[in-house]
Amino acid sequence: MPAKKTTARELLFGDLWEFDPAPESAPAHIEPRYGLYIGGKSVAPKSKKYFDSISPRDGKKLSEIPLANAADVDAAYQAAASAFKSWSKLPGAERGKYLFRIARLLQDRSREFAVAETLDGGKPIRESRDFDLPMAAAHFFYHAGWADKLAYVAPGRSLAPLGVVGQVIPWNFPLLMLAWKIAPALATGNTVVIKPAETTSITALKFASILTDAGLPPGVVNIVTGAGETGAAVVNHPLAAKVAFTGSTEVGKIIQRALAGTGKKLTLELGGKAANIVFDDAPLDQAVEGIINGIFFNQGHVCCAGSRLLVQENIAADFLARLKRRIATLRVGDPLDKNTDVGAINSIEQLTKIRELVQSGIDEGAEIHQPTCKLPKNGFYFAPTVFTNVSQSQRIANEEIFGPVLSILTFRTPEEAIEKANNTPFGLSAGVWTDKGSKILMMASRLKAGVVWANTYHKFDPSSPFGGYKESGFGREGGKHGLLDYASLKTQDSR
Ligand code: NAP
Ligand code: MG
Repeated sequence: MPAKKTTARELLFGDLWEFDPAPESAPAHIEPRYGLYIGGKSVAPKSKKYFDSISPRDGKKLSEIPLANAADVDAAYQAAASAFKSWSKLPGAERGKYLFRIARLLQDRSREFAVAETLDGGKPIRESRDFDLPMAAAHFFYHAGWADKLAYVAPGRSLAPLGVVGQVIPWNFPLLMLAWKIAPALATGNTVVIKPAETTSITALKFASILTDAGLPPGVVNIVTGAGETGAAVVNHPLAAKVAFTGSTEVGKIIQRALAGTGKKLTLELGGKAANIVFDDAPLDQAVEGIINGIFFNQGHVCCAGSRLLVQENIAADFLARLKRRIATLRVGDPLDKNTDVGAINSIEQLTKIRELVQSGIDEGAEIHQPTCKLPKNGFYFAPTVFTNVSQSQRIANEEIFGPVLSILTFRTPEEAIEKANNTPFGLSAGVWTDKGSKILMMASRLKAGVVWANTYHKFDPSSPFGGYKESGFGREGGKHGLLDYASLKTQDSR
């Protein structure tokens, strides 16, 4: 009989660290069918159509989501335009009170929302509980604080709201992206029509009940659900004074073309292909943790994911060995389990896209490494994957995979690292791992990326502006810069 092959995980931990399942048991309170949220009320869609939201955890149906057509989107804009008249004139301190209430209500119901987010989108409960929900509440708290201090954002100038803002968001951080969009818009006195992504509408529709409980005046926020066509109706509505979009570069280009010449303000938060750069003087085990977090957080469904590892050639073999050992310990599976590190892929479409790009990597000659892990039978799952022998011309080194797939390239000098890191149409984020502060500053000034993390990765704060260069879009979210993208600047009367 051939000897049983010992896995890296067994080598490290034996059987000592096998945990029993620890599923989160709090109820998500998901309704069997939702309405659109227009004018402060849940209303049936004029289209009379609904579509299913399914859980990528097991492929089962969770709820029926209304499909908003152009007439529904128009009703949402009319409600928002009418609400704008009084909302924009409220003193900032009053607007701030509503935002504080929303933040607190989100905190009160965070466990329930975390479970709903995990069920609908597939991300590990640990992440929705410890990242998505606290960050979403933090965005409302932060912007609540700004609402009565807008006179201090730009010295000598005052901020005026723009009007109704049309917002379209993706499926990777459904509630958090909603918070990034709604909080600054409301703080600056705008009203909103927002469309969540087709596969992850549930937390947005649950959020409607928080708005009602907060007593937000009807029409200040309107939530319309549907697919790309609904998104196009939101973007192209004549009452939109500004459009804020987060999603793929491909759709971002369509929107930019459609809005050219309309006078509407536009901000685009698009894709990325970030380089996470490890120098030979870096603390290697710490860097391994950062690389893992950079690519496997949220199954790699992260616009700023560190999807290209650039490692200095003289430490590449050692670093790969450490990385493989660490990957073997990742727990992949049921996102509702509190021990899970890598959950479910958001949709079957995304799983198909990841498989296709991974196959292209194999076909183009890269070497694939995957740990031995048992994936659940039902639902959509993909094992954490690393590619070596990657050259810059391969698709896996250029295209956004938006999945748990890391492409490893090497470099010899800082110059070569900078050249390779910047050799991408994107420019959203980057990471630098080194012992030398001077090297960090030099790299940060030469990397063409909106965010550069040093000896850490995926650190976010509402006060820190986030956004990209080149095909990663324009405009910033968070901080003072984010507020400026939701307002027009007026010279203050000095009398
Ligand atoms: P997507 O296909 O561009 O979708 C984004 C949103 O746009 C969804 O709500 C989508 O609706 C809607 N949409 C689709 N076609 C549209 C159209 N013609 N007009 C208006 N709206 C339309 O992107 P995704 O695949 O959901 O999201 C992943 C992408 O988002 C990645 O590229 C990622 O990098 C990017 N992202 C960027 C950031 C950032 O801050 N830079 C943050 C998160 C994600 P349906 O989904 O319902 O079809
Ligand atoms: Mg879903």
